[in-house]
Amino acid sequence: MKSSTRSPGARNSVLAAALALAGLAAQPAAAEERAKDLFGAEKLPTATAAQSFGFYSKGCFSGGVAIPMDGPTWQVMRPSRNRRWGHPALIALIERLSRDAVADGWPGLLIGDIAQPRGGPMLTGHASHQIGLDADIWLTPMPDRTMTRAQRETMSATLMVDEKTHLVKDALWTPQHTALLKRAASYPQVERILVNPGIKKKLCDTVKGDRSWLRKIRPFWGHDYHFHMRVGCQPGSPNCKAQEATPDDDGCGKPLAWWFTQEPWRPNKNPDAPKARDLMMMANLPKECRAVLDAPGPASAEAATYHGDTVPIAVAAPAPEPEAPSLPAVTASSAAGLPSALNAFTATPEVGVPVPRPRPPAK
Ligand SMILES: [Zn+2]
Repeated sequence: MKSSTRSPGARNSVLAAALALAGLAAQPAAAEERAKDLFGAEKLPTATAAQSFGFYSKGCFSGGVAIPMDGPTWQVMRPSRNRRWGHPALIALIERLSRDAVADGWPGLLIGDIAQPRGGPMLTGHASHQIGLDADIWLTPMPDRTMTRAQRETMSATLMVDEKTHLVKDALWTPQHTALLKRAASYPQVERILVNPGIKKKLCDTVKGDRSWLRKIRPFWGHDYHFHMRVGCQPGSPNCKAQEATPDDDGCGKPLAWWFTQEPWRPNKNPDAPKARDLMMMANLPKECRAVLDAPGPASAEAATYHGDTVPIAVAAPAPEPEAPSLPAVTASSAAGLPSALNAFTATPEVGVPVPRPRPPAK
């Protein structure tokens, strides 16, 4: 394969050239811009190969695709936020989870925030969700009708946890909730699932038989009406920073008990202090994120909407200038993680990692 013969040094020099094209060196002032203002203003992804840069809470991504507003087994919530974008491998996995969950007896997924079109820090909410590999999924079952736009903006989610005791409300929790989390944890690409400590405790107290998947279920503040599914760095993203592996045990012992002490719930002494996302400048993000901001986009959101294996991903809009784009152009095959001469950044895909691939033409 072509890309396997290219040395890492050669790849870095291609990257350096691409960044130079993007004018990185010529714009020192741009590095002082607040990253969330720039990334929060992006309406469309880059029409380039899918790649994550940096860490879940400090990075960006290229080649994002949108999950369609509706599928047979899901509906997107809060569409006005424009956060239904992710790495194609994550979007494909959410769709798969929605089908598997329905087969398990869950009525369908309500999809919360995934990422901004080019990731990066958000104007509001979430410290993570920056590199296209995090998704929030509601713990409220999907209604059996297609909701209007207005309903998706205003329908409230069901809070599953009592705010005072931090325990799950028993009248609301069902075996289907457990099955949904177990299914999400079953995929090898999923490294962590964040839930409220009360939900973790409910699982610790009730799951019988195979408990190995509890390792991936991690207690965290919030996450009382949704769970947060995080997948690992994908092939073709050499500059994606992996998160430390979770400990090997089920996490039901001491670390969980800490959540049921006073300590995690003490009022914030300085609630008005700026958050990390408020302070993050372009200079704090991986340098490739400047090129991500400057890269060309597709003609429309629809052109970058993921429609399973049959439709090419993220077709670029006609370039206004003849010069080379700052990130390599994408083709359906490169977006699918396959080697492509056009895609100088894409590393050789690892064998056995499921990424969307084009379906062979019908015979
Ligand atoms: Zn989340």
